[in-house]
This record gives sequence, structure tokens and C-alpha cells, in this order.
Amino acid sequence: MKALFVAMAVVAAHAIALMTMPSIGMTISYAFFFSVAGLAVGSTVVAWRRSGVPRDRRWWLLIASLALWMTGMALSARQNYVLDNSNPAPGDSMFFYILYVLPVLVAVSSAPVAARKRWAVAIDLVLATLLGVLFYVRTFSIVSAQGAMHTQQAIDVAYMLDFENACLAMASFMRYLATDRNEDHFFFRGVTAFFVTYAVCGYLYNHHVALAGHPEFGSSPFDALLDLPFLALFVAAVTPHAQRYWHMPVYLIRFVQGASPTFLAMSVLGFGLMVIPGYPTLGIIGAIAAVVGIGLRGTLAQVDLVEEEFRLSRSRDELQGLVFVDSLTGLANRRALDERLLREWHRPGQSDPIALLMIDVDYFKEYNDRFGHLAGDECLRALATAFIAHGTRPGDFVARFGGEEFAVIAPGTRLPDAIALAESMRAHVEALGIAHPSSPSRRLTISIGVALAHASSDGGPLDLLNAADRALYRAKQSGRNRVGAPEGPRLGATSDRISPLRR
Ligand code: GH3
Ligand code: MG
Ligand code: MG
Repeated sequence: MKALFVAMAVVAAHAIALMTMPSIGMTISYAFFFSVAGLAVGSTVVAWRRSGVPRDRRWWLLIASLALWMTGMALSARQNYVLDNSNPAPGDSMFFYILYVLPVLVAVSSAPVAARKRWAVAIDLVLATLLGVLFYVRTFSIVSAQGAMHTQQAIDVAYMLDFENACLAMASFMRYLATDRNEDHFFFRGVTAFFVTYAVCGYLYNHHVALAGHPEFGSSPFDALLDLPFLALFVAAVTPHAQRYWHMPVYLIRFVQGASPTFLAMSVLGFGLMVIPGYPTLGIIGAIAAVVGIGLRGTLAQVDLVEEEFRLSRSRDELQGLVFVDSLTGLANRRALDERLLREWHRPGQSDPIALLMIDVDYFKEYNDRFGHLAGDECLRALATAFIAHGTRPGDFVARFGGEEFAVIAPGTRLPDAIALAESMRAHVEALGIAHPSSPSRRLTISIGVALAHASSDGGPLDLLNAADRALYRAKQSGRNRVGAPEGPRLGATSDRISPLRR
């Protein structure tokens, strides 16, 4: 609010000074123009410093534009004071009034900060340089260094400036609307404030003041109009971000952001076509460069996109892999077990039962207490390796169920085979001979609960898990280091290590 009052006071002071001291009007206007441009530069530096970490370097492009504009104004002052030339459109200052848009045009054409690529910046710089040359040629094809020879030439220059300012005002306004990040929003708010005001005030000043009887600065209080764009930038740059109440639909935001590189290429194409009548070679080079530049940008963006997609799909696969892996043992984890069980359950044409073995390490708490948790972890890893390398058969699925419990899904397995498999795993672990002084057998052992179910039976995978858990409980109850057979009629127990049914 304070900034707005300062801006209004400056405009009023400029107009009043011109009305009250018309004899030194030109000096007053130059003093105000340089002051407001300096104020705009200062506020732009403030905005840059406020633009977060890392700082948004686009503000420096805006400063470069302001510096070019001030150079135009300095050349205009030189024409007035040093060369005593009162022509309203001397070529050198006109060239800078046209050229000043270039740095900001590069910013308006650039991708959002987060998606910026070096090669895109390089292409933009080449196009921007070419556009600078085209501006030069176009300007001096209308006016000479001394200025416009006829009113018509001055009008032509004014229209060229109007066109350029209007295009940039629209482009920056579109970018302002199509921002999804605060720093982009803040930057384009400043640029839009400047260029929209500049387009309107520049048009009014050129056509209704300079070309309507007041060609010299200081001869009309309406000179104060030219302060407005700089003051608008000042207000926008020093006013903190406001709460946003409206957001463009995301698809539209991406569309404008994706289309913005064409702003620069279109300008090169437009000015290239404009200079073709006078400078055909340069004009054609400009047009070709615009087409090649935009094509190359699109192609490289496509290459990057495809590469990024590959990278993302690779890391998605990797992540998906990790989601199903137990980090300690490298075995499938509980989530993978549940999925696999469900898949087996719904596998079509499954006539043999699915066997589930639930394995629990005996007296493992004591093992940890005795040797420490790290040794306990090492032991769990050794067991996992043993289960994978020995005991299970191709097609069986081993997982860490949680804690010191493991599970094996053995699809298409009848009861005697399931019990034989469990018994061989139990015996193998016992044979490893891992020392466990707190266990009655003095070595590390496991107990296994076996359960079987037909996928077509009532119930689901959860019932199978519960049945295996109950069988494991029975194995523990009857002394550990043994296999607990399923409930129901006993079918071929293979050793005395098979715990009795229903005790
Ligand atoms: P039981 O013979 O009845 O199975 O006795 P237990 O001591 O093995 O049984 P309990 O369930 O009381 O204890 C399991 C222990 O397993 C408790 C915990 O310290 C240990 N444990 C669970 N997960 C891990 C692990 O990831 N690493 C280690 N080192 N120990 C674990
Ligand atoms: Mg346990
Ligand atoms: Mg245990």
C-alpha cells in the first residue's frame, strides 16, 4: 500500500513540476525517467533477493531489460542535449527501445525454473542474438541515426513498438496466469505489471502525445504517463506474494508453459519475415533459424522426456521390487507372501491342495539374549539362505513372515509330501549345528506347522494361515524342534518328530 502511495506521489510530482516549470520541462522529465527506472531496478534487486534459495536469476534478465531501456533514454538525452537533435525518433535510441524487450522475452519464453535445461537456454540465446540483429536491421530500415525523416516513418516506428509491447504484455500475462509455483508467479507478476502498463502507456504517449504535437520531452504534463510502467514494476516487486484464490487448470498451465518457447521463435520468425523485402538473406536466415530452433527444442525435449520416462519406470520397478522384499534376509516379505497366497488360491485348474509351512525359530529370544541382536540377525540370514538353498523345491515360495518366523507356500502338494518337506527343512537346520547353549539340544532348531487346503474349499488364504499357525503351536507345545501336522485324519507322518494330532 505504501509503495502505491509513493508511486502516485511520484507521478503527481512529475506532472505538477511540468505544469509549473515548463521552461525546464525536458530536464525535469529526463530526471524523472531515470529516477523511476532506477527505482524499478532497485526494487527488482529486492525481488531477486526475496526469490528464495537458490535465487531466481530471471530477475537479472528484467534488470538487463531496464538497463537497455535506460541506455535508449541516455542516447535520446544525448541527441537532445549534445547533438541538439530534437527529432522524436532518433535511430540509436529507438533501437534500444526495441532491443530492451529481448532479455525479458528470453525469460518469458523459458521453461519454469524447475524444468530448465541448459541446451534450451543455449538455443534461446542463439535465437535472442538473431532477434537483436533483426531488431537492428528493422529499426534502421525505417529510421536513420538522426531520426525519422517523415511523420509516416515515426508512425511506423510507433506501431512497431506497439506491436512488440502488446505481444510481450500478452505473453507475460499468460505466463502469469499459468504459474503453479510461487517463484514463477511472483516473477511474472512483476513482468506483467511492467509490460501491460508499458504497452498501454507507450501507446497513449506515442500516438496521443509525441505524435500529436508534443514530440519533445517536457512539453506535455502527460510525460508522466511514461513513469507508470516503472512504478507498476516497483509496486509489484516490493509487494509480498498475495494469497492466490484462483488457479488455472493444471492442463492449461502445462499447455502455456509448453508453448512458451514459441514466443521467442515466433518473434524471430515475425521480424525475419518483416525484413525480407529489404534484406532477403537475413530475413530468410531468421525464418529458418526460428523453425529449426523450435524444432530442435521440441526434439531435445522429447529425447529428455523419453529418457526420463525410462529412468522413472526403472526406478518404479526397483521400488516395486523393494516393496516386496524383506530387507534383513532378502527373502520375500509378508506382503509378497499374502499376494502369492492369494494368487495360488485363485490359480485356475488347481486340483492338488496348497500346503503352507509356518516356521518359527525355537528359543530365539534366549539366542538374542545370549549373543546379541546383531548375531540374531546374522542367524536369521543364515536360516534364510539355508531355506532357499536346501529343503524347498522349485515352485515353492519362501518368505519371512515377520520376526523370527518364516513361511513356505508349496503349491500342488499332498500331505505326505508337505510333511516330508517340513521334516527335511527341520532336519537341515538341526544339522547346521548353529550353537545355542540355552536350547535343550544345544543347537539352534526350528518348529514347523503344516496346513493344507484346497483352493476350492470353503474359507480363504487366511484360514490356511491360521491352520498352519495352530499346527505350529502344537509343535511348540509338544517340545519344539518338530513338525506339527495339520488337524484332521493323520496322513503318513514320517518321523517321531511329527507332533501328534489333537492332544
Ligand atoms: P519359542 O521357542 O516359543 O518360539 O521362543 P522364542 O524365544 O523364539 O519366541 P518369542 O516369540 O517369545 O521371541 C521371538 C524373539 O525373536 C523375540 C525377538 O527378540 C526376536 N526377534 C524378532 N525379530 C527379530 C529380528 O529381526 N532380529 C533379531 N535379532 N531378533 C528378532
Ligand atoms: Mg515367534
Ligand atoms: Mg520362536
